[in-house]
Amino acid sequence: MNKIIVLIGAPGAGKGTQARLLEERRGIPQISTGDMFREMRTLDTPLAREVQAIMAAGTLVPDDVTYRMVQDRTSKPDTDGTYVLDGYPRTAVQAKQLEELAKEQGKEILAIEVDVPKDELMKRLTGRRSCPVCGEIYNIYSKPPKVEGRCDDHPDAELLHRADDTEEKVKVRLETYDELTKPLLEFYLGSGRLKKVDGTGEIEDIYSSLEEIV
Ligand code: AMP
Repeated sequence: MNKIIVLIGAPGAGKGTQARLLEERRGIPQISTGDMFREMRTLDTPLAREVQAIMAAGTLVPDDVTYRMVQDRTSKPDTDGTYVLDGYPRTAVQAKQLEELAKEQGKEILAIEVDVPKDELMKRLTGRRSCPVCGEIYNIYSKPPKVEGRCDDHPDAELLHRADDTEEKVKVRLETYDELTKPLLEFYLGSGRLKKVDGTGEIEDIYSSLEEIV
């Protein structure tokens, strides 16, 4: 049966990095609600402005808005098979909505927790930079680009530092995770659909553990 692989982890746990690898190496489409909301930045509509304000504050976009976007994205033919959700669901309501969607799409849900200790997360997030062209993720502490501030593959592009990756915003995002998203682990555990990978250590080692599960 085709699956919806749900990566659950605090901001900075490396969900995006691992989801990208699954897409690159296994052809499993990565669906990142955070990336989709960031893409809305270029739009000048009341909804886009609201989403921008929410993201800038580090809090969550309303469940229904998020669900509609996921529904829409997963109605495209590339998601006919297995796909990965990176950053969704993040609340109990979203988890329920996803149950419905999975049923409609005839897929089973496999949740994977990417576990990283709190003190490590702050360093990862405040040091994170990404390429605006290819989306490659760097970290000024642990995975610096060859030339400071420039993507290795797109040296003309200046690396981005997300506005919500500042210490103050990261605190809010981590609190939001603990309060609203962490309880979902119990939900998936209780229904026998939760696996866990250790999200510390080398990216390749984490990927190997993930690939074994998938
Ligand atoms: P991320 O890139 O996954 O850290 O997401 C960045 C921001 O997008 C979050 O801080 C939220 O404001 C918003 N966002 C992403 N995914 C969701 C979601 N599933 N529900 C609500 N808001 C979300």
